[in-house]
Amino acid sequence: MPEVPNRDSFAKQETKSPGTSSDAECKYRHIYVVIEHEEGKPLPVSLEMLGEARRLMDRFNEKYPSEEKVVAVVLGNNVRKLCEEMLYFGADAVIYADSPELNSRNLIDTKVISSIAKDIAPIKEISPEYYASFQRPRYMFFAADNIGRQLSSTVMADLESGLASDINKLVINDLEIKHEHKTKGKPIVYKKTLEMYRPDFSGFLWTTILCLDNHNPAIQRDYHPQACSIIPGVFSQLSKDTKRKGVIVNYAPNISETDLNKVKVLSRRIVKSAVDFDSYKCVVSFGRGIKNLPEGNTKLIEKLAQALDAEIGVSLPISKKPYEVSEGLSSKYFVPDRVIGTSGRKVSPLLYLAVGISGAVQHLAGMKDSNFIVSINLDENAPIKDESDIFIKGSIEEVLPTLIEEVRVQRAEMVMNVKE
Ligand SMILES: Cc1cc2nc3c(=O)[nH]c(=O)nc-3n(C[C@H](O)[C@H](O)[C@H](O)COP(=O)(O)OP(=O)(O)OC[C@H]3O[C@@H](n4cnc5c(N)ncnc54)[C@H](O)[C@@H]3O)c2cc1C
Repeated sequence: MPEVPNRDSFAKQETKSPGTSSDAECKYRHIYVVIEHEEGKPLPVSLEMLGEARRLMDRFNEKYPSEEKVVAVVLGNNVRKLCEEMLYFGADAVIYADSPELNSRNLIDTKVISSIAKDIAPIKEISPEYYASFQRPRYMFFAADNIGRQLSSTVMADLESGLASDINKLVINDLEIKHEHKTKGKPIVYKKTLEMYRPDFSGFLWTTILCLDNHNPAIQRDYHPQACSIIPGVFSQLSKDTKRKGVIVNYAPNISETDLNKVKVLSRRIVKSAVDFDSYKCVVSFGRGIKNLPEGNTKLIEKLAQALDAEIGVSLPISKKPYEVSEGLSSKYFVPDRVIGTSGRKVSPLLYLAVGISGAVQHLAGMKDSNFIVSINLDENAPIKDESDIFIKGSIEEVLPTLIEEVRVQRAEMVMNVKE
């Protein structure tokens, strides 16, 4: 690979007169999707990101006649075999860096991904028509999981651009913006802007985040790529199409001895959680709805789980121990290992009971593939209702004793019937 061109001048862009369209027409092209994989297989979120990138890019190329691409970026040891898979699931091209030293060390991965983003050499193979003008990706996607959340922030810091984290909706639009600092108060149309939607306040509010170049002559500066981390489970992956073809580019990573000496990986093993949701047909999860009677309600949930032979999950806030309960309950249930959602576990039991859980998108991502969902909630407008097969409007305190009793009776009858 040739040397990465000197980008010192990157921040000092040619001045545009206010009022003209800010298109960054030539310099920024393509969506780069940073792929995560484990034991030779891409993580589902990586395929979901490729699917959404494909849908966005198809619409983009139609709306703004162009040939921009979805480019998967794959790092790791022996990853060449993953590259075709990326094409089958929506990428037009893959840039892969293969080295035993690429083993999930943030410092090294950050440097390699940043240099891939800055390097124009792969563009010669991927899209020669844009080679002369290409400077950086237009957009960049990372997974909003434990690895991607950290990697996205360090890569974007290195690229000196912005990052929107935990996104669950993306739209590309031309937007007229008038802003005191960005546009010096004058209206400017920002073309091809990525609107990044983020669920806030338990999913009741969407915040739209934009990563905009400064067109105020006093603080002129570009912010590209426009980047985000994407919540696992929110976008659908494409069906695998083995006829899809594309360009695969081998990237020789430049990893220095100094970097290697900073962090050494002595051994690596996947730690299995102590809570084994997969062995249970039913999961009963509870959330902040227990707040009026934390101790009593947790005990009711425990009884319901016992009656159903279910494992117990929690929403993220519960793992932060927001209420006072006895030590036994707290250390058993109010723990990160039981969190269902993007910050915890993904489950898909035959039956999922959501008790006093509002249904924030981060929680839904962890349970919406369950076969049958029952929720119990005081608020009939809670988002969990839309995901539920049965929604019981009522309080935990009222509904659970009746439900536990009914489950016990029905199960006893079933046992009797089997004996007869
Ligand atoms: C980066 C990020 C990652 C996140 N990851 C996760 C994740 O992995 N998993 C997760 O769960 N969350 C996650 N969250 C948090 C998420 O956005 C929500 O804040 C959280 O899921 C809300 O938890 P909850 O439903 O327990 O609480 P609330 O949203 O407060 O909902 C409580 C519900 O209980 C109901 N209720 C109240 N009293 C009663 C009663 N007596 N009986 C019955 N119902 C009652 C209310 O009507 C309400 O719907 C994440 C947030 C961020 C920003």
